[in-house]
Amino acid sequence: MKLFRFHGGVHPNDHKRLTASKPISLLPIPQRLYLPLQQHIGAPAEPVVNIGETVLKGQLLAHSQGHISAPVHAPTSGTILDIGPLTAPHPSGLPIRTVTLESDGTDQWTPALEEAIRDPLILDPEEISNRVGTAGIVGMGGATFPSAVKLKLSLKRKIHTLIINGGECEPYLTCDDRLMQERPAQIADGIRIILHAVQAERAIIAIENNKPAAIVAMKATCAHLADTQVIVVPAQYPMGSEKHLIQTLLGQEVPAGGLGADIGVLVHNVGTAYAVHRTIRYHIPLISRIVTVSGDAIRNPQNVEVPIGTPLSDVIQHCGGFKTTPARLLMGGPMMGNMINNLNIPVVKGTSGIVALTSQALTQQLPKPCIRCGRCVDSCPCGLVPLEMAAHIRKDNLEKAAELGLVDCVACGCCSYSCPAHIPLVQYFNYAKGALFNRQQTKHRSEETRKLIEQRKSRLAKEEEAKKLAALKRKAEKDAQKKSLKSQADEEVTS
Ligand code: SF4
Ligand code: SF4
Repeated sequence: MKLFRFHGGVHPNDHKRLTASKPISLLPIPQRLYLPLQQHIGAPAEPVVNIGETVLKGQLLAHSQGHISAPVHAPTSGTILDIGPLTAPHPSGLPIRTVTLESDGTDQWTPALEEAIRDPLILDPEEISNRVGTAGIVGMGGATFPSAVKLKLSLKRKIHTLIINGGECEPYLTCDDRLMQERPAQIADGIRIILHAVQAERAIIAIENNKPAAIVAMKATCAHLADTQVIVVPAQYPMGSEKHLIQTLLGQEVPAGGLGADIGVLVHNVGTAYAVHRTIRYHIPLISRIVTVSGDAIRNPQNVEVPIGTPLSDVIQHCGGFKTTPARLLMGGPMMGNMINNLNIPVVKGTSGIVALTSQALTQQLPKPCIRCGRCVDSCPCGLVPLEMAAHIRKDNLEKAAELGLVDCVACGCCSYSCPAHIPLVQYFNYAKGALFNRQQTKHRSEETRKLIEQRKSRLAKEEEAKKLAALKRKAEKDAQKKSLKSQADEEVTS
């Protein structure tokens, strides 16, 4: 299959050898789990349990609300200790409403999850999307967009190609690599189910060439599937970005601000295909995920299957703890991950990695003035001009930065990585996107308030008008009555 190149990108040291050859280990159920009600893009889930209630493994804790949302389930059996704000797994550190579950140590499944489905391909495609939605599955590559919404949207449009993203281009992360090496048959089954759910003609599993064992495993598993192909793509960051993977495989560009579905392509992560297999075959909701725990500050780096809601401290402890105090702790990889400074925050559905780095592993130096070398422009895979956008953001001219394409920035960090002046460009863009979003929200709220005031004014004016008309009517009736009485009196006098 002919591959196409995309502009820009970088080739950072991938550091994958730290974990790529080690089997996935299983984290024992921790004493307490912390389950934020918003682990996905969209509206937060709404609790359906109360404090003090006992729950079983797989039981629904909070249902989705709104068009874009995802439910949350219990990763083990136990008692609900609290439902309240807790520090979020997000750089802002702002609290999110969270369910605290204390394990009872029995890990007892809810009985409704016992029966397996023998042939999921006899299910109606819409039924598959519904079940994926009910299971709380979200994009496992880190995007955390509810998968059922993506499937339903794709069913409405004509999808010809399903791309399964096994790129995993982010340095240090190998959770997808290990999943493909160890559970290829389950992934392939998930792919068949998704193909059926969106009625697509073919699937392409794209794997970067730095994962030879995963390539062998997936090729061997899919060899007999006429509609599924494993394609090896070059290791180039950010190959795992949806738009760049589509461009590499099909030579087609997703329109600015658009989706792959706009050009008949749907992209799902290998982890999502695996989660779909577990849900559709065995009714298992999304209650655990594989997390890469890596970096030179971790004593025993490895991939771990972790119950959602496990505090990071438990996961790091499982990996032998820190060799030395890390200079930087990241949730995700070093290119797109979030810096964190609190080990009590939990693993959530989008946590692909925990990376702890010493100062020796960090190349970052103090920023210097821009020398206008243009390297950031050359490396930007989205064709943007990062130095110009950053200059406008520094002057708080966010609208101008937006005009220059800020919304098309995928926050890949290639510009920051290649900048010889060490300017943290991607941090500017992340800040500006957040600030623009807040401004739009404020503007939207002001417009809504203005509309409400105008509606009230108009209602009061109508009521006033109605009152005046009623008064005029009453006066006219009174006048008529008086006139009639007077004429009666006149008639009596005359007679
Ligand atoms: S790479 Fe850095 S120094 Fe070079 S133009 Fe861009 S911002 Fe300026
Ligand atoms: S972070 Fe944004 S501006 Fe920088 S290289 Fe990536 S897409 Fe381009």
